[in-house]
Amino acid sequence: AVEIRDLHKYFGKNEVLRGIDFAVEPGQVVCVIGPSGSGKSTLLRCVNLLEQPTSGKVVVHGVELTHRDVDIDAARRGVGMVFQQFNLFPHMTVLQNVMISQRRVLKRGKAEAERIARENLDKVGIGEKCDAFPAQLSGGQQQRVAIARALAMNPALMLFDEPTSALDPELVGDVLTVMRKLAEEGMTMLVVTHEMAFARDVADRVVFMDGGVIVEDGTPEQVISAPRHERTKTFLRRVL
Ligand code: ATP
Ligand code: MG
Repeated sequence: AVEIRDLHKYFGKNEVLRGIDFAVEPGQVVCVIGPSGSGKSTLLRCVNLLEQPTSGKVVVHGVELTHRDVDIDAARRGVGMVFQQFNLFPHMTVLQNVMISQRRVLKRGKAEAERIARENLDKVGIGEKCDAFPAQLSGGQQQRVAIARALAMNPALMLFDEPTSALDPELVGDVLTVMRKLAEEGMTMLVVTHEMAFARDVADRVVFMDGGVIVEDGTPEQVISAPRHERTKTFLRRVL
């Protein structure tokens, strides 16, 4: 589903990604872990071209995003993204938040967009909050609206960048439960997270990044339970 070859990203003279190679197969869940500043968010942002890679290749569902003739908007449509900050429109209801991109980007009719919005809000467990405004919801509920909004676009790939990091601890579980369910349904997911239990239980592969490179890439057992590199061990000692 995703293929990344020799990806480099500079911000000015600062080389933030220093040759990243990896792939996510359809239906796989890959968790990316690593210290602050290691380039995790930049990597995710390069996968949907929120950042322009400096060099290298990013292929999503057979479309080379880094090709100069690519239709970026069309390519992005197949990729859903959920951020640490939920980025909901505060002046719109939950239902309107989940309908707006369907209407504007996919040109769905009102009735169809509303039906799909309700389906996805039910799926993330907040169907009864359709008419609420974001400020009336908890952080965990807002994040689930953001997930429903992404799912309503029928993405073939979902990117998550620390989706639970801004939440109060007691609200983290609800969001992780929704993500677990998506994974079980076969959604292809690339997830930056500090939730090691989630990575261990749900991920097919765990990628450890440090200093803009992938230090270790393997099963959760390999990377979390039996890391081979000193840098991975040091990081895990701090987070586990
Ligand atoms: P965290 O765990 O704190 O979210 P991260 O692994 O996601 O960290 P990135 O956000 O990808 O790290 O940042 C990697 C490096 O790139 C950092 O040194 C950061 O300062 C730099 N960086 C990120 N975005 C920009 C930008 N738009 N302009 C300049 N430098 C940036
Ligand atoms: Mg980040």
